[in-house]
Amino acid sequence: MKYVVCVPDGCADEPVDDLDGRTPLEAASLPAFAALAARGEVGRAAVIPDGMPPGSDVGNMSILGYDPARYHTGRAPIEAAAMGIRLRPDQVAYRCNLASVGDDGTMVDFAGGHPSTEEAAEVVAALERELGGGGISFHAGVQYRHILVAPADWADAICVPPHDLSDRPVVWPTGAAAPQLRSLMDASREVVAPFGLKANQVWLWGQGRQPDLPPFREAYGLDAGLVTAVDLIRGLGRLTQIDVVEVAGATGWYDTDYEGKRDACLDALAAGKDLFLVHVEATDEAGHAGNLDAKLQALEDWDRRILAPLVDGLDAMGPWRLLLLPDHPTPVMRKTHTLDPVPWMLVDSRRQGPGGTYTERGAAAAEVVPGHSLMARLVGEG
Ligand SMILES: [Zn+2]
Repeated sequence: MKYVVCVPDGCADEPVDDLDGRTPLEAASLPAFAALAARGEVGRAAVIPDGMPPGSDVGNMSILGYDPARYHTGRAPIEAAAMGIRLRPDQVAYRCNLASVGDDGTMVDFAGGHPSTEEAAEVVAALERELGGGGISFHAGVQYRHILVAPADWADAICVPPHDLSDRPVVWPTGAAAPQLRSLMDASREVVAPFGLKANQVWLWGQGRQPDLPPFREAYGLDAGLVTAVDLIRGLGRLTQIDVVEVAGATGWYDTDYEGKRDACLDALAAGKDLFLVHVEATDEAGHAGNLDAKLQALEDWDRRILAPLVDGLDAMGPWRLLLLPDHPTPVMRKTHTLDPVPWMLVDSRRQGPGGTYTERGAAAAEVVPGHSLMARLVGEG
């Protein structure tokens, strides 16, 4: 038996005026989605547990079969894992943005004018030189996204994600560790300034200790792999000891290598993996951009370039089961993630299911199940 999990990030949406009240999943031409839904089962899942933020880290942890309410400690330790940083029990990781904060205290740009990775690496090296030590270390990531490792008691703070503060007065951290955080952020201004970038300080948020995730093989008894262009999902793979396969043309953007990801899946399964997860970010990016045409195109790319040939490839291999769902909705009219339950579909190559329609409305009458329960449902019936 082979198992496949398909994650079109943020694909679920809402009725769109320009589509005469249809959603992108309803309006796009998706024959492979439709054929799979017709032979499988369609339902609805809460991938974001009550009270948690609708982030891709939370949603994808659910999809991998781990309850975020139990296992999620923060976003930064997942990104740190993707960068190869393993936290000790006495450490906490913070996401460390290079940000632009105006003299009047406005969050001018949470991405600090998008410095290049090379420019940013020099800044982070200077931060480490000037402000590192005593349990504090700075680790360079990509563009404006970096990691600070600090002593574990620095975790005790409430921090606002900088992208939630755009063009608004900043909200400084509160809580027991707030003074240390504030003083480090203030001290960073002097270190960042000489580089002449738009970024003028660090912004710390998303903190957490190393999450205690059991390896996927122990939790589900299967040898798994995944492909993604997104660090958060790469990090979840590292933390659960799922093999992360790199595809050179995976960009995290509309132009990603759909065929490369599909073939990575088929190749890994043919080589002995039991389960493989294919994640594509393009639908989410289109949602954030409010780009309806790009979202429709990304869905149709999923249909033609992944799903249809994937089913052919799986059929040639033997019996298979396939689960498809996004990690949260990213509606094009809202340009951000929402908390709504998402439609899922589960298909077994050996039997005809009740059948359904893979759209938000097609799943609307279904009972909402916890997102993390679907992995057991996928692999539970051999
Ligand atoms: Zn996402």
